[in-house]
Amino acid sequence: MKTVTILGATGSVGSSTLDLIERAPDQFQVLALAANRDVDKLAAAAIRTRAKVAVVADPDCLDRLRDALGSSGIEARAGADAVCDAARMRADWTMAAIVGTAGLKPVMAALEAGGTVALANKESLVSAGEVMMAAARAHATTLLPVDSEHNAVFQCLDRTAPRGVRRIILTASGGPFRETSLEAMRAITPAQAVAHPNWSMGAKISVDSATMMNKGLELIEAFHLFPVRADQLDVIVHAQSVVHSMVEYIDGSVLAQLGSPDMRTPIAFALAWPERMETPCEQLDLARVGRLDFAAPDPVRFPALTLARDALSAGGARPAILNAANEVAVAAFLDGRVGFLEIAAIVADTLARYDPAAPDSLDAVLAIDAEARAYAGERVKDCVL
Ligand code: NDP
Repeated sequence: MKTVTILGATGSVGSSTLDLIERAPDQFQVLALAANRDVDKLAAAAIRTRAKVAVVADPDCLDRLRDALGSSGIEARAGADAVCDAARMRADWTMAAIVGTAGLKPVMAALEAGGTVALANKESLVSAGEVMMAAARAHATTLLPVDSEHNAVFQCLDRTAPRGVRRIILTASGGPFRETSLEAMRAITPAQAVAHPNWSMGAKISVDSATMMNKGLELIEAFHLFPVRADQLDVIVHAQSVVHSMVEYIDGSVLAQLGSPDMRTPIAFALAWPERMETPCEQLDLARVGRLDFAAPDPVRFPALTLARDALSAGGARPAILNAANEVAVAAFLDGRVGFLEIAAIVADTLARYDPAAPDSLDAVLAIDAEARAYAGERVKDCVL
């Protein structure tokens, strides 16, 4: 029996993780499930899986959570510290699937507790890459990438011969506006932006896919996870989302991982690693897919990718600022306060206005994150829809 904790249990990745765990009740025992404020979904999952603890980050939800858990015997907790405490319970396997920098402290708590951490929460690694990787090393924690691209690279990478790697090529679906003109992009609505053609995901990452900031964040994520330089990381647009990423070797070999676009495949890989487990995912039928297309990304319509690449090259505080400004801008877009094309503009302006020294601790990262959010928030107020 593997003990499991899911941070972000009510979200898209959290639900896919629960689906797999609930199909193999003899293999997994749930310790803690944590979410923000979706009490009903959290309590239902905790009761179904007989979790020991259920945690809501929002303290105002504690009474409702207690009511929803009823006489189940499951302990209800609330508050941001309680989420970190749940992460510290030292499950054998922890899924880090809180969205945004809100997941940073909990993921650090999980890394410091040891065990295996399956990382979906890319924003934490973008903001605090050096700090997080140092914590994983110091506590001998196994960090497994769940993001489908990084999971694909992990599967294709020959860790015994890192010098044989020439390039890592991350594939990008291009999102719903892959072929939309710049002019038409001005009028994109939140409903259009969250409707991803291939993947079913939470709202924030869906918008990130639409702007291609998601691929920018993934470049930074890959830099921290794998032993390569920034200039060995490439992005290619691949509309079908069948090839999840590739590793090119110096002898000219290119290894790719393929599969139907279903997050349960990379999650299952991380759950069973180093073994494999069965999933209910649709089997890949290449004859039905018919063709696999590839194209270079368009830096004019998708400037977020260049912003992220520049932040990666500059290093220091730049990735944390990029990420914080993007979170503020995406939330404002989803609230109808700024237009689609403003998202990258807000990120660019925040990067131009704020340039602190490189962070050397978690507290320093969080301070930069807060300050960058304040700059981006001011910039949002300047936008007129
Ligand atoms: P969702 O928006 O679907 O879910 C987010 C989860 O985080 C919810 O459980 C939410 O709780 C919880 N949450 C939000 N804020 C807090 C907080 N302050 N404290 C505790 N929990 C919180 O997101 P996704 O599942 O789509 O994405 C999660 C992460 O995984 C993101 O970082 C994303 O980039 C990454 N990822 C997602 C993929 C996908 O296919 N969805 C693919 C690859 C990576 P509540 O429901 O109560 O609000």
